Amino acid sequence: EPVEWPTRDLLSHRAETTPERTAVVDAETGAERSYREFDAAADSVAAAVDGLADTAGGRVATLVDTRPAVGRLLYGVWRTGRTYAALNVDLAADTLGAQLDALDADLLVCERATEELAATVADCPVASVDEPTTGAVERLETVESSTVAVEPAERSRDETALILFTSGTTSEPKGVRLTVGNLVASATASAFRLGVRPGDRWLVCLPTYHMGGLAPFVRAALYGTAVVVQREFEPAATARLLDDHGVTGVSLVPTMCKRLVDAGWAPGDSLGAVLLGGGPADPDLVERCLAREIPVCPTYGMTETASQIATALPETARRYPDTVGQPLVCTDVTVLADGDPAGPNETGEIVVSGPTVTPGYLDDDATAAAFGPHGFHTGDRGYRDEDGRLWVVGRVDDRILTGGENVEAGTVAAVIGECNGVEDAAIVGMPDEEWGQRVGALVVGTADEETILAHCRDELAPYEVPKTVRVVDALPRTPSGTVDRDAVRRLLQS
Ligand code: ATP
Ligand code: MG
Repeated sequence: EPVEWPTRDLLSHRAETTPERTAVVDAETGAERSYREFDAAADSVAAAVDGLADTAGGRVATLVDTRPAVGRLLYGVWRTGRTYAALNVDLAADTLGAQLDALDADLLVCERATEELAATVADCPVASVDEPTTGAVERLETVESSTVAVEPAERSRDETALILFTSGTTSEPKGVRLTVGNLVASATASAFRLGVRPGDRWLVCLPTYHMGGLAPFVRAALYGTAVVVQREFEPAATARLLDDHGVTGVSLVPTMCKRLVDAGWAPGDSLGAVLLGGGPADPDLVERCLAREIPVCPTYGMTETASQIATALPETARRYPDTVGQPLVCTDVTVLADGDPAGPNETGEIVVSGPTVTPGYLDDDATAAAFGPHGFHTGDRGYRDEDGRLWVVGRVDDRILTGGENVEAGTVAAVIGECNGVEDAAIVGMPDEEWGQRVGALVVGTADEETILAHCRDELAPYEVPKTVRVVDALPRTPSGTVDRDAVRRLLQS
């Protein structure tokens, strides 16, 4: 039996330790909240949630986009001993309805922008962090509730504290359960990799209904550092506020980072870490960042591991711009090739175990399918070098088996990306009677199909050359911004 370690209310612990330190900064207004104030704000949320949600220990769903209020919502819900379940504000009503059903939530918290949607999809009481516009929705925090202090709930390490949905790149988004232990282990391991100093400020400009946007709120309360919250990423404004607020770290997806660099971003001295993840980062982008002294840390992570699995530091990226570095200190990574642990530089499925790994999905069948004797099967392929650095090659589903030959979608995408006038490309396997699968390429840009094919014939093995190429204005994307592979296949087949 593992020894239980303390799982006190993270925020009240922090507020008792460093009440005067800054907790949350609103990038728009510059308003700052100290940990004492943040703690009191979480108390009023907790009182309101206790008043509105009938089941003790149940689940509170939220339909709130990136904004400072997310911090007090998260800790307020936790203070009542309930689970915080974040929903993606960009999803269609029927998908949200299905997710709410799966959650069996006792309360849905929305904001002005999502009020109508929330009222449509909810089967439970709905409350807003803003002034509601209809009688069907309550105001979450009232003046009366702000005076009530809720006794912080104790939690066991293995209790589910958070439910987040995956991005839905490979299939419908899956609800991932994350425990108090998962979150604390992730924040701890992240600190061991990146380092922490008092006075650190992390900019949150990613969606807070995904791990990348929510994790900084957990880390900050554990570390006693601050989060600066920007509602809407915009390269010029984001670059400016990074300097104005003395931001020391930020999480970005590659598209955001590229837009910042393209806009001429040159950060000041305060910035110590740019966590670059959520999807594959182009090594050229990593090199461009390093050339400008941007402290880029290519990162591999996922919802099911409460964010980071492996993170390369700038000093590693300088030598190997395409690695995601060593796994975090408490994370075990096994590469499985045909079911057996692979040797150095041998590619296979990335399997992860350790305290950051989810106990499972909301759906038990999905959980059973994802775990094997070596741990959680990520569905990603990669390899490790002799020193253990990890390279992510692509998704298992992206590997195309055509006429008995393996084609790596990433290889084809890189070659097509070299053509003049190509901005982006998605490579998928399409069902094919003769070959089993054939390579299909959906390309964005001004290049024509013949030029693309001619370049592929020059640079690729014959079986790697796409049999179907189509040029379009934009790739179909999931509401999380990742390329929707099923939709790509459908477009190529139509
Ligand atoms: P779903 O599981 O619903 O198909 P998803 O896997 O895109 O969606 P997330 O948990 O948001 O949902 O994303 C994690 C995935 O993102 C990883 O499994 C991996 O495929 C990809 N990813 C993250 N970081 C990197 C990286 N540095 N390099 C390559 N891929 C990455
Ligand atoms: Mg996934």
